[in-house]
Amino acid sequence: KAKGEVKEKNQNIHVAVRCRPLNGIEKKQGSCSVLNCDRAKREVTVKERSGIHPFTKTYNFDHVFAPDSQQIDVYKAVVKPVVEEVLSGYNCTIFAYGQTGTGKTFTMEGERSENASMGWDEDPMTGIIPRALHQIFEELQRQTEVEFSVRVSFLELYNEELFDLLGSTIDPLRLRIYEDNTKKGSVIISGLEEMVVRSKDEVYEILQRGTAKRQTAATLMNAVSSRSHSVFSVTIHIKENTMDGEELLKTGKLYLVDLAGSENIGRSGAVEKRAREAGNINQSLLTLGRVITALVEHAPHVPYRESKLTRLLQDSLGGRTKTSIIATISPASVNLEETLSTLDYAFRAK
Ligand code: ADP
Ligand code: MG
Repeated sequence: KAKGEVKEKNQNIHVAVRCRPLNGIEKKQGSCSVLNCDRAKREVTVKERSGIHPFTKTYNFDHVFAPDSQQIDVYKAVVKPVVEEVLSGYNCTIFAYGQTGTGKTFTMEGERSENASMGWDEDPMTGIIPRALHQIFEELQRQTEVEFSVRVSFLELYNEELFDLLGSTIDPLRLRIYEDNTKKGSVIISGLEEMVVRSKDEVYEILQRGTAKRQTAATLMNAVSSRSHSVFSVTIHIKENTMDGEELLKTGKLYLVDLAGSENIGRSGAVEKRAREAGNINQSLLTLGRVITALVEHAPHVPYRESKLTRLLQDSLGGRTKTSIIATISPASVNLEETLSTLDYAFRAK
C-alpha cells in the first residue's frame, strides 16, 4: 500500500453506539456520567476527571444515541434501512454488542411499559425484533401483486452449543450445524424449528415463548445467561408477478443477534488473562471480532469456521450482505473500563 493511503472503508458495516441512562444503583453508588453523546455530530466523548490521569477521548460512529434516545429513534436510523434491504432480497445481520446490563436485550427485544394499556405495537418500549416484523408485514401486505412467506427461528448459543428456543420440547434440544452442499456458504441446522408467521401479532407470542424457554434452559444447564448469544432469524420468500407475466423470486434473510456480555474481552480484543484462567473464553464472541476485522480490512481469509456463531451467520456476514452493530454502553464512571473496551471494539469495526 502506498504511504498515506487512506484505508478504504467497508461500506457494508455500520456501527452505532447507544448509551443507556444512569440507573438507580449507579446513582446510589455516587457514580456520575463520564460520557457525552452528540447525535448530530455522531460522536461520543469520554471525560475522566476523577482518576490519577484525567483524559478526554472522542470517538466517531455512524450513529450515536444518547441516554434519552427512544426505541423508535434507534429503529428508524439503524434498522429500517436494513429491513428494506432484506425485502429486496439481501441477507443482513444486526448485532447488539456490549457489557452485561447496558441494554442489549432492551434494544433487541424491548420491554413493556409499566401499566401499559396499549398493545405491543404502540408501546414505545418495544424493541427491534417486533418492530422489524411489523415493518415487514406492512410493506408486504401493501403490495397486492406479490405472494410471500415469512418464517422465523430463535436459537441460543451457549458454550458453543446450539439450543432451539422455539422447539416443542421443554428440554433444550442440542442442534447440529451442517454445511449446505447445494448452496455455497450456507449452513443447515438440523432439527431447528422454523415457524411460519402470518401476522405481526404472532411475533410477540413467539418472542415470549422463546424468552420463557431461554430461562428454563438456563436453569436446566446452570448457565449464566450473560454468556449466551441469542439469534433470531427471519427468512422472507417473495414471489412477484412482473408486468410481462414473469415470476420473480426473492429471498431475504435477517439475523437479529443479542450477543453475550462483552466483559471478558479485553481492550486489545484478546481474552483477558483472568477470564482465560476461569475458563470463560467465549469462542464465538472472539471469532466474531476477528471476522469483522477481516471484513473491514478486506482480508483474503475470513475465519468464519472458527466458531459456531460465525458459521451460523456465514451467509449473512460479508460479501454482498449488510451488517450493523449496535454497541451498548453505560454512562457511569464505575463502568468506564468496560465502556472504553466496547467503544474500542466498535470503533475497530467501523
Ligand atoms: P443487557 O441485555 O445488555 O444485559 P438489558 O437490556 O437487560 O441489558 O438492560 C439492563 C437494564 O437496563 C434493564 O432493566 C433495562 O430496562 C435497562 N435499560 C437498558 N437500556 C435502557 C435504555 N436505553 N433506556 C432505559 N432503560 C434501559
Ligand atoms: Mg440481555
